[in-house]
Amino acid sequence: MKLEEFPRHPLTFGPSPLQHLKRLTQRLGGAQIWAKREDVSSGLAFGGNKVRKLEYIVPDVLASGADTLVSIGGYQSNHTRQVAAVAAHLGLKARLVQEKWVPWDDPTNDRVGNILLSRMMGADSRLDDHGFDIGIRDSWKDALREVEEAGGTPYPIPAGASEHPLGGLGFANWAFEVAEQETALGITFDTIVVCTVTGSTHAGMIAGFAALEDLTGVKRRVIGIDASATLEKTRDQVGRIARNTAQLIELGRDLRDDEIQVLEGWAGELYGIPVDSTMEAMALGAQLEAMITDPVYEGKSLAGLIDLVKSRDIPADSNVLYAHLGGQPAINAYHSLWS
Ligand code: PLP
Repeated sequence: MKLEEFPRHPLTFGPSPLQHLKRLTQRLGGAQIWAKREDVSSGLAFGGNKVRKLEYIVPDVLASGADTLVSIGGYQSNHTRQVAAVAAHLGLKARLVQEKWVPWDDPTNDRVGNILLSRMMGADSRLDDHGFDIGIRDSWKDALREVEEAGGTPYPIPAGASEHPLGGLGFANWAFEVAEQETALGITFDTIVVCTVTGSTHAGMIAGFAALEDLTGVKRRVIGIDASATLEKTRDQVGRIARNTAQLIELGRDLRDDEIQVLEGWAGELYGIPVDSTMEAMALGAQLEAMITDPVYEGKSLAGLIDLVKSRDIPADSNVLYAHLGGQPAINAYHSLWS
């Protein structure tokens, strides 16, 4: 099926806005830096990248007759908050497994930010002691079984909606949205920088931009910045989901290895724990552009972008697009970094 033929249930205000980050561009003195703001593109509980993925999953949810969305993430998962939001929006229930993915022992970590919002929206959010892993988890399978045993009809949404067969479509479509905005603005982005952890955001973009390249001949670098600190797992997952998504949208060729680039160097030792470059990037974004990023995801990808622009790995005559995927609610649990 062609991408435009897949059913899509709108959950956003429309195309996410593009913003020229002029002061950051000036400070770094190289490529022109723009952001595409997934963090302000939906009215559902502060939005973010999962809303766009869920637009392609909701038609399947509704067709299935399920009454409970069942998903999984860390205590401060943006993903589970967005699942809770979509459940509230559709009048469904949400059962969330919140694992201890981050050894961050602030006493507010399981109470404020994302988890607070999920609870406000009526989700059944339960803590679990297991550590970080982007794969399929037993705790999630147990939750699915429990919903069934209680007489409910669960709909499974894996971590980050990434292992879902339709999980890559939202960001494949993002590529085509970028192309339309480029035409309107008279600009071409030769480089895209995106944070990657469970993989389907970056993977969807890879498939979408590959389809676009085949239509227009425009080649771009779609650079994933690893924030998982489990690089090989994320790289494998990105490659696999990109290839599945490419097949799903009938790309008609194999993806080239150079189309799948997950870079390391900014994740630090552990998922969810910021390092110096994360803190510096968050400060630059906030102080030059009032663009708020978080210490788990976007602060790390912004750090990658800053270094690549400064080192001229991204050349000075480039137009680079930073995908801002949301994630700000988590900063509440990280208040001690600034106090
Ligand atoms: N940025 C934010 C704010 C997120 O919530 C996530 C979710 O994991 C990501 C980036 C990474 O996206 P993905 O899991 O699709 O790789």
